[in-house]
Amino acid sequence: MGIDVLVIGGGNAALCAALMAVEAGASVMLLEAAPREWRGGNSGHTRNLRCMHDAPQDVLVDAYTEEEFWQDLLKVTGGITNEKLARLTIRASSTCRDWMRRHGVHFQPPLSGALHVARTNAFFMGGGKALVNAYYRSAEKLGVKIRYNAPVQRLEIDNGRFVAAWVGDERISASTCVLAAGGFESNREWLRQAWGQNAQGEWPADNFLIRGTRFNQGVLLKHMLAQGADPIGDATQAHMVAIDARAPLYDGGICTRIDCVSLGVVVNTQAQRFYDEGEDFWPKRYAIWGRLVAQQPGQTAYSIIDSKAIGRFMPPVFEGVKAATLPELAHKLSLDVSTFMQTLNDYNRACRAGTFDHTVLDDCHTQGVSPAKTHWARPIDTGPFYAYAVRPGVTFTYLGLETDDTAAVRFGGVPSDNLFVAGEMMAGNVLGKGYTAGVGMSIGTAFGRIAGTQAALASRASRGKRTLQAGGTA
Ligand SMILES: Cc1cc2nc3c(=O)[nH]c(=O)nc-3n(C[C@H](O)[C@H](O)[C@H](O)COP(=O)(O)OP(=O)(O)OC[C@H]3O[C@@H](n4cnc5c(N)ncnc54)[C@H](O)[C@@H]3O)c2cc1C
Repeated sequence: MGIDVLVIGGGNAALCAALMAVEAGASVMLLEAAPREWRGGNSGHTRNLRCMHDAPQDVLVDAYTEEEFWQDLLKVTGGITNEKLARLTIRASSTCRDWMRRHGVHFQPPLSGALHVARTNAFFMGGGKALVNAYYRSAEKLGVKIRYNAPVQRLEIDNGRFVAAWVGDERISASTCVLAAGGFESNREWLRQAWGQNAQGEWPADNFLIRGTRFNQGVLLKHMLAQGADPIGDATQAHMVAIDARAPLYDGGICTRIDCVSLGVVVNTQAQRFYDEGEDFWPKRYAIWGRLVAQQPGQTAYSIIDSKAIGRFMPPVFEGVKAATLPELAHKLSLDVSTFMQTLNDYNRACRAGTFDHTVLDDCHTQGVSPAKTHWARPIDTGPFYAYAVRPGVTFTYLGLETDDTAAVRFGGVPSDNLFVAGEMMAGNVLGKGYTAGVGMSIGTAFGRIAGTQAALASRASRGKRTLQAGGTA
């Protein structure tokens, strides 16, 4: 039997598409570039999805209305978002969880410490890995044909219509196709080109680490752009976090995050502070620090805390550099000791004591130092002292393919009638820049499900046409 729907990719968006298509009666094949043990892409690293709800719902407390979700998105993107598609994503996030449960996903309330997200984000029991495994199990049971080690290099496209995909020398044809092969964050050469050279002659991207899968090389994205598919987004926009500089190049995941920035100060390799560490709650600011560190010389910085901060943040997996005195700490970090002490002394002197409270935007701030620290500013004066070296960690890139509410790929403004896109490959339609936690999975789930349904419908229509033609000539 021929394939009705070919799904390219093996993460959340691809699996949602495959499951919806097979539920709609289509024959489905899914091509995952990774081997089975690495299947699932970045989705395997996730923990939660952001959900709208008008009243408490199972694991979600209070309410998180469409309007509030929309305003959050509007704020972080600075308006670079498609309101229609954003609202579609938001509404879909309120109704998807029963369907997810039917395919084996379980939810749990957030662990204590994840303060601000109990209202807005539904956590996956067992994390993204369990979600991906549940979807693969369900897909297999429903008859989706899954192939691993199957990276697609190119597509045959005829006048905006999908014809076939190529994996090495093998040609795979199908009535319709869903592209859900992630961003290009794992392609360091492309990141290098996008970020270019800085004023010091450095190539900043050479020092980036990739938080997720090594398989999102952007091969299909590049190919589709070269084929004339309409692009969306900017190649330098990405979700970027400051992560432990010792993290591996790929797949370090969430445990490499350094979460003590707002409790201390951050200095660059020249021992200078460069940004307000206490601007806002950490969950609202963690995703800007990757970009901030990327703009520093050597793309490396040091998060410095004293003993007062210990126990107030999720400890990193690996211990930091520890010293009894600040000059000793600077020495151990190979920073210029006198500049470091000048920076720390200036900061300490500028701290205006208030009532320290890390759970609110408190009144502990600096006066007369630049950059200011506007909340949680307390002198760093109680040994032992600790430092964590951080580097930019890319989560996912935002350059993608433009789409509409049918998830169709568009060529010169005309939607394809059998080629669809979902997940990171189109997230830039909703996220022009910035990020609000959990929205990546909301976008992938909403558009994966739409793309799968549309692809199944389109294949049924073309099957009908074929039957009609066959009937007419017999
Ligand atoms: C450490 C980390 C934590 C995160 N935490 C969260 C979170 O808690 N909540 C949230 O909403 N988002 C989170 N994200 C972002 C989230 O992972 C993405 O938004 C989401 O997973 C995107 O889903 P996707 O299916 O589009 O891409 P992916 O899950 O990355 O899947 C892409 C798939 O395509 C495959 N592929 C790539 N190229 C090809 C090719 N040429 N041929 C065939 N297959 C190919 C890959 O192998 C992979 O299986 C996190 C990301 C990371 C890295």
